[in-house]
Amino acid sequence: MRDIRREVDVYLEAGRTRLRGDVQLYVKSVVAFAILASSWASLIFLHPGIAVGLIALGGLSLGTILVGFCIQHDANHGAYFRTRRANHLLGWTADALLGISSYAWRVKHNVAHHTYTNVDGYDDDINQTPFARLMPSQEPRRWYRLQHLYIWPLYCVMVIRWQIGADLTAIIRGRIAKSALHVPKRWDLAGIVGGKLIFIGWAIVVPLFVYPWWVVVLGYTGFAALTSLVTATTFQLAHCVEEANFTSAEELTANRRIWAVHEVETTVDFCPRNPVLTWFLGGLNYQIEHHLFPRVKHTHYPHIAEIVRRQAARHGVRYTVQPSLWKALRSHHRHVRALGRIGMPVEIEMG
Ligand SMILES: [Zn+2]
Repeated sequence: MRDIRREVDVYLEAGRTRLRGDVQLYVKSVVAFAILASSWASLIFLHPGIAVGLIALGGLSLGTILVGFCIQHDANHGAYFRTRRANHLLGWTADALLGISSYAWRVKHNVAHHTYTNVDGYDDDINQTPFARLMPSQEPRRWYRLQHLYIWPLYCVMVIRWQIGADLTAIIRGRIAKSALHVPKRWDLAGIVGGKLIFIGWAIVVPLFVYPWWVVVLGYTGFAALTSLVTATTFQLAHCVEEANFTSAEELTANRRIWAVHEVETTVDFCPRNPVLTWFLGGLNYQIEHHLFPRVKHTHYPHIAEIVRRQAARHGVRYTVQPSLWKALRSHHRHVRALGRIGMPVEIEMG
């Protein structure tokens, strides 16, 4: 990590490099907001027919996904601006535009997921029991046998769960997995309440003035399912595949590992040579680099990846990249299918 950091510092210290990364991110942010706003405005004010309406709904989903991957994610990690306040303010786009609490997200994602990646009981993202079994240490159940089939519709409701209150439930419970989630006060509380109201306002209430209720229900379901599916799949291809390591707190205590090595071995990059996908996913196909440098703007990941790959090979750390989206999807499918089989030791199931 020392070797990687030295090289990354040299790369980032070059004035032009930083400027280029900043400009790329800011331009992308403007594009994301513009797609989202124009799609919503055309749905509300132009009252289009089915074909144009579906295109506008697709645009709305695209804009929302871009805000989720490229703006709020960087901002809530503290990577977008220099100051914490500015980052939290922009990170609040998660509340207002995605319908999920950025306050809860920072604990769920930055603490539970980024600190304890693929650790059973600690990484909330990998814990979908009793619906699905995503790591070997989780208890087998009969219905997981079909999980490789029903997991896809399940992914379609993952974000909806948070939108309709899983984030608020976590706040009331006071924890996400084993990470503490303190009671929000003042501005944090105002952000949560205000964000939910704004989201419900533009996504449900205003459309109800323009369209019949069943059109709003259908439209909202399609929009939320699409954004959910893309978000969940992107995450799963990086951590929930055959090549990723899974572990438990007991295992980690008995067998201490360097944190950076743990992150590299529990994470997988995919499609590194696909600039369109890299742009669209906010660099999250370079999740190894994101996990090592969550506070660096995602526009720098492709360059940092070259450094990490070289140093991982030099230090004998397993660094995995899936060359294509298809290969990454296949690996995820095989992983989920293998874990769904019951009655046999996992080591045999995994071949
Ligand atoms: Zn992250």
